[in-house]
Amino acid sequence: MISIVVPMMNEEAGLPALFDVLIPICRDMGPFEIIAVNDGSSDTTLDILVQYQQRIPELAIVDLSRNFGKEAALIAGLAHCSGAVAITMDADLQHPPEYIPEMLGKWHDGYEIVSAVREDRQIETFTKRLTATYFYKIFNKISEVKIMQGEGDFRLLDRKAIDALLTLPERARFNKGLFNWIGFRLCHIYHPLRERSAGETKWDYRKLLRFAIDGFISFSSLPLKIWTHIGLMCSFSAIVYAIYVFIKTLIIGSEIPGYPTIIIAIFFMGGLILSGIGILGEYISRIFEETKQRPLYIVRQFHRPETEEEK
Ligand code: UDP
Ligand code: MG
Repeated sequence: MISIVVPMMNEEAGLPALFDVLIPICRDMGPFEIIAVNDGSSDTTLDILVQYQQRIPELAIVDLSRNFGKEAALIAGLAHCSGAVAITMDADLQHPPEYIPEMLGKWHDGYEIVSAVREDRQIETFTKRLTATYFYKIFNKISEVKIMQGEGDFRLLDRKAIDALLTLPERARFNKGLFNWIGFRLCHIYHPLRERSAGETKWDYRKLLRFAIDGFISFSSLPLKIWTHIGLMCSFSAIVYAIYVFIKTLIIGSEIPGYPTIIIAIFFMGGLILSGIGILGEYISRIFEETKQRPLYIVRQFHRPETEEEK
C-alpha cells in the first residue's frame, strides 16, 4: 500500500482542488491511503475532511489538538501511516501530484528516499529567494548533512526510512536535515514550483527565522564554538593596541581625550558578549526542550477510514 501524507493548516479553500487532482492519480496506482493531518486549523478544514471521508474511504484524518507546526504535523502523519512507502506533500498543490508516479518509479528502481526538488523559485518573492539561497549556502558549509537548494517536503520514503525517522527522539525538528541524516539510498527528481492553488502561505518571517535558527543549531555546533575564536581575536587586537598606545605615549607623550576609544571599546565588547550569551542561550534552550521529553504532537482524534466490518 502507498500512503500519501498531507499536513494541513487552514486549507479549506484548497481542499477540493487537491482531491480532484490527487484521487485519480492515486486510484491508478493501486491500493493507497491518504493521511490528512489537521494541524490545528481554525477554519472548516476538519469538517470538509470529515465530509470527504464519506466519499473517499481511503482517507484517514489525524486531528491534532492544536497547531504544532508543519514539521510535527508531518511526523504525526508518518506515525499514523501504514504503507510500505509514503509520500509527503503540501496541501496547496505546490507539490504537483503528477510527479508521484515518477517518484514511485524511482522507488521500484531501489531508491529508499526520493526527494522532489523545485526547479526554480521565480514565483517566490525576491527576498525569500535571496535569504533561502544564503541560508543553504551557509548551512551546507558548516553542517554535517547537506541540503539541496529547493528541496522541500515533497518526498517519497520507504518504510525503512519512515521507521528510522520515527525513532529519532529530538523535539526541535528540522526535518529537511533529518531526512538526509538518516541516510539510505537517495535520489532527486525535479519539478516546477506552482502558485498556491488557494489560500495564503502559512509562513511569516518570524516562523522562517525560527526555522533557519533551528536548522543551524540542530545540525552544527559552529555557532557555539566560533565565539572562542572571535573572543581570542578581540583580546589579541586589544593587546596589540595597548602596546601601540604604550609606545606612542613613551615617544610623543600622552594624548588628552581617549574617551571615544573607551566608549567604542565598551560597546564593541558588550555586543560581542551579548551575542555570545545569546548563542549559548539558543543551545541551552534546546537542551531544556529536549530534557522536558514532551511529545512532538498530541492527537485529539484519529478518524480512521471505515473498515469492511463497520460498514
Ligand atoms: N502547514 C501546517 N502547519 C503549519 C503551517 C503549514 O500543517 O503550521 C502546512 C500547510 O497547510 C501546507 C504545508 O504545510 O499544506 C506548506 O505550507 P505553505 O504552503 O503555507 O508553505 P510554503 O509553500 O509557502 O512554504
Ligand atoms: Mg505552499
